[in-house]
Amino acid sequence: VRAGNVLLFDCGEGTQFRLLHAGLKRSRVEAIFVSHFHGDHFFGIMGMVTTLSMLKRYAPLTIVAPAGIRDIMHCIPGLVEEALSFPLHYVEIEETFEHGVVYRGADFWVEARPLEHRIFTLGYRYQERDRPGNLDVALARTLGISAYEDFRALKAGVSVRRADDSLVHPGDVVVGGRKGRIFSYCSDTRPCGTGVLLARDADLLYHEATFEASLQQRAIETGHSTTLEAAQVAREAGVKRLIMGHFSARYKDTGNLVREAQQLFEAAEAADELKRYALSDIES
Ligand SMILES: [Zn+2]
Ligand SMILES: [Zn+2]
Repeated sequence: VRAGNVLLFDCGEGTQFRLLHAGLKRSRVEAIFVSHFHGDHFFGIMGMVTTLSMLKRYAPLTIVAPAGIRDIMHCIPGLVEEALSFPLHYVEIEETFEHGVVYRGADFWVEARPLEHRIFTLGYRYQERDRPGNLDVALARTLGISAYEDFRALKAGVSVRRADDSLVHPGDVVVGGRKGRIFSYCSDTRPCGTGVLLARDADLLYHEATFEASLQQRAIETGHSTTLEAAQVAREAGVKRLIMGHFSARYKDTGNLVREAQQLFEAAEAADELKRYALSDIES
């Protein structure tokens, strides 16, 4: 959740229910990012768009997805743009796409890159703009800074030299700034270089880990990742936290999967649900 708005990364069938369950209003969804056209990742969109229109939403909604999403939606007469209560924008991404910004919000942007799965699949990286802090003018004065140009320089991140030749650094007098947070979404995929690029220095990486480490051959055949492979991506990318999901139905309990990943990457945990990712999950 950012300033009241919700972004969805993939939209499986149960997404609406889970949003409600998480206390997030469906009406606040501003964009949906679809990774690929396997049912568990996008079948929820039709229901979501239908509900939003029935709720008489008027704010625009953007759907970012592999090319073809508009045709899929148009198979259902009630989902053509003219039939809806709100403007629906599509960003369709061709299979030749390599990298770029696919969506811009008020103070964030989302980049995409292709992943390695059985069909064309996109991974996403959400990144907030760094928020500059405020200059504590009173504090700066006590440190002997009084010229307007010096205030400006400090606020812009430049150190200032005092009369006695010592330096005052921005960190001494600028308070409340915050580095923009980064969330990366990689599902479904083999571990790959583009995944690492998407995840670089992320605060939170969601990476699929469909199989336990000993089933690597199965992971290769099906275009998925094992726990150790997800952990390896997290490690290479230098992320702070790894959330794994998309576990094969054969696993009733994810404890062993998490322990496997933690051998390589300590801050690994299991998501309780794979199909939606609200950004509230990086609030903390
Ligand atoms: Zn898939
Ligand atoms: Zn899947």
